[in-house]
Amino acid sequence: MAVTRTFSIIKPDATRRNLTGAVTKMLEDAGLRVVASKRIHMTREQAEGFYGVHRERPFFGELVDFMMSEPVVVQVLEGEDAVTRNRDIMGATNPENAEPGTIRKELALSIGENTVHGSDSEENAAIEIAFFFNDDEIVG
Ligand code: ATP
Ligand code: MG
Repeated sequence: MAVTRTFSIIKPDATRRNLTGAVTKMLEDAGLRVVASKRIHMTREQAEGFYGVHRERPFFGELVDFMMSEPVVVQVLEGEDAVTRNRDIMGATNPENAEPGTIRKELALSIGENTVHGSDSEENAAIEIAFFFNDDEIVG
């Protein structure tokens, strides 16, 4: 399995509860390496652009408002089969359906306030990484 990269966001419900380190430890324990990381407060333009694929969904407004509500930590993660590895440790979108030991099962509050984002394909990972990071900010 090749070493690849994925994009992660530690969402506002986690930064608010001071869980940046706890989430990052779970990612690292799952075999992922943080090769870029920064704490930002998303603008409306960034949140709407990032989640643009969900524009027509009923929860879009709530999702954008939430992502702008408090700081987030955006990260690039590297590891073997990073996209799948990250999705596995994140757990299901709705924490009620997530497996024990996953980030969302252990830490998430609800389907909206679900602690982490992770890219769902290598193609989207590349797009999402480029949305938030310049090449010189990623140090593998
Ligand atoms: P993410 O893209 O954040 O990693 P995901 O890929 O597991 O999550 P998506 O279907 O892409 O899930 O939904 C994006 C985000 O929109 C979810 O993480 C969640 O915060 C929010 N969301 C999804 N479904 C709902 C819903 N029914 N009600 C409220 N918020 C929702
Ligand atoms: Mg998604």
